[in-house]
Amino acid sequence: MNAPQTKKQVLVAAPRGYCAGVDRAVITVEKALETYGAPVYVRKQIVHNRHVVETLEKRGAIFVEELDGVPEGSTVVFSAHGVSPAVHAEAAQRQLKAIDATCPLVTKVHREAVRFDKEDVDIFLIGHAGHEEVEGTTGEAPDRITLVEHPDDVDELDVPTDRPMAWLSQTTLSVDETMETVNRLREKFPLLMDPPSDDICYATQNRQQAVKQIAPRVDLMIVVGSKNSSNSVRLVEVALEAGAGASHLVDYATEIDEAWLEGVTSVGVTSGASVPDELVQGVLAFLEERGFPPATEERLTEENLTFSLPPELRRDLKANTALKH
Ligand code: SF4
Repeated sequence: MNAPQTKKQVLVAAPRGYCAGVDRAVITVEKALETYGAPVYVRKQIVHNRHVVETLEKRGAIFVEELDGVPEGSTVVFSAHGVSPAVHAEAAQRQLKAIDATCPLVTKVHREAVRFDKEDVDIFLIGHAGHEEVEGTTGEAPDRITLVEHPDDVDELDVPTDRPMAWLSQTTLSVDETMETVNRLREKFPLLMDPPSDDICYATQNRQQAVKQIAPRVDLMIVVGSKNSSNSVRLVEVALEAGAGASHLVDYATEIDEAWLEGVTSVGVTSGASVPDELVQGVLAFLEERGFPPATEERLTEENLTFSLPPELRRDLKANTALKH
């Protein structure tokens, strides 16, 4: 009798890749280059993706870590992750033309921090130390905010338990781990207040849910994304927690180690919110070249959200168009 044939398959998650905030931020730099000419400076990586940054660099964008790397009077774009008020003030003081590509869903969290600050409410910010988004949000109310990175950190918090506190979070965290942290906070701080709406954004939530849907059926989950991309790294963790046999993060198909495919019949593929889909297509082609069939897409939901470009850029685009007519 023949041994049972195991059929190879590739499942690709949807939604994956670009979210509305990343799309807007990348188009902002492209339009800024068209409107003002190169170079256009960008403070920090516009989005956390190597390919996107390298592509924009070739077109004339110059990425700097801080504003002191930007010559006075130049145009500078602030990244999708947001900046603190101190960065806006420094840009004004140095007479830079600043275009703010902060994702509106990050700006929403900034506004929540400002409001709680005005209401005399201290804040636990759930997020990762050193991440640009956390630095930007913390800058809105530096004396109020205590960073909480992991559920276990709650035990160590030396904060009075008898006054009103609120929690906010970075937009790109693991939904499950964040809720665990919130539950631990609520046990210790009974007066804990919730943000008015979810801080973990729709794109992060959808990509995690879509991965959970296919993870239990795959031996290997390949996540396309950069190592400094918070939401991409979370997708690897979520895939493993949801039952994928193994999971790896790659920037490009060329980073896939052939050894990962040994004995593997079912592969899942997804990508972080800052990843152009051509990189996912590269991974699917790589798998096909190694005997896997064309991928089947498993879509959790449709996404139709779009954000308009930053107003300061829209104004100049409109003026430019008027001049040409
Ligand atoms: S991941 Fe979410 S918060 Fe971040 S840019 Fe995309 S939509 Fe905005």
